[in-house]
Amino acid sequence: MFAVCLRMQRKYSKLEGYEILTCVRALAGQERTLIADLLEYLYEVELRKLYAPLAYSSLHEFGVKELGFTDAQSYERTRAVAAMRKVPEVRDLIRSGEISLTNAAQLNRAIEAEKRALGEEVTNEFKAALVEAASGATKREFQGKLEVILTNPESRAAVREKLTHRSATRTGVQFEIAVTTEAKIKRVRELVDAPTLEELFDLALDALIAVEEKKRKYDSSSDQELYVRGSSASPAKVMGPDPVAGHGAEEEHEPKKKVSSEQSERRTKQLTSRYVPAKYKTEIAKRSGSRCEFIDPLTMRRCASRSHLQIDHKWPLALGGKTTLQNLRHLCGTHNRMEAERAGLGVNIKN
Ligand SMILES: [Zn+2]
Repeated sequence: MFAVCLRMQRKYSKLEGYEILTCVRALAGQERTLIADLLEYLYEVELRKLYAPLAYSSLHEFGVKELGFTDAQSYERTRAVAAMRKVPEVRDLIRSGEISLTNAAQLNRAIEAEKRALGEEVTNEFKAALVEAASGATKREFQGKLEVILTNPESRAAVREKLTHRSATRTGVQFEIAVTTEAKIKRVRELVDAPTLEELFDLALDALIAVEEKKRKYDSSSDQELYVRGSSASPAKVMGPDPVAGHGAEEEHEPKKKVSSEQSERRTKQLTSRYVPAKYKTEIAKRSGSRCEFIDPLTMRRCASRSHLQIDHKWPLALGGKTTLQNLRHLCGTHNRMEAERAGLGVNIKN
């Protein structure tokens, strides 16, 4: 029956009423099965990080840029997959239609919010209560039950947070704040001329971005040791021209001068140490634009991630690579783990 309902082109208006109803039922059932199957595949994509070699840093980004999901669709599917990982019975309940995609995604948010509020993993009883509340419930009904199941005001507020795309240029934001935060708004309004909450929010975000970017990009004053995981897919790659290294590899061509044995010993020590000097960190940030430098060699697509950047040894120290500017690069967490895994350096990404 199902096949008959597909690709009727423009003949829908010619169908009898009973044929239309039969096809609507058949296709609705198929839609559920398709979504359940799609989630199973996405689950494997996430588990094996199959998006990483394609230069995506997350399943969400892969969903939007590779599969054409909207931002909201991709978040929903990604969160549903996360729910399947945390609570295995969710898989069958999505397939049977007992739990909707929306509720599965919200179930994952509830677990995350509670975990953050408690500062520890949630119990199996808590997960079971969520599954029961989400089953056969509409989005609104489930939300109502969450108000009872979640144990504290912070986690209840967190699952109510919402970003709603209202138009191409405007997004609605909805969240609760504590009275202490409200006091801060009053204080900021005394100090800064920002009459609307929108302007105030925008100014506050600008200030936070400036602080965080300064911390990451120009960490040159810090003398703290930065330990990095040396890794590389193939040491040979480092020998060829590096598409992302570009300029700034000048330390390789330092003028040759007579050095004492003590100096030479110190130099060797530095080259084989995981410690990355502050001036290198600044140079790497300048070169990478504080963005992951992983490139998919097939498409030459470069990863867009700017979060959790780590300094990586292209040719791993463990395999004889050196701490030189030419051998260092910025990688996001996903690509640093992937390269370490490829080089067989014992990082298990299939956690
Ligand atoms: Zn990356």
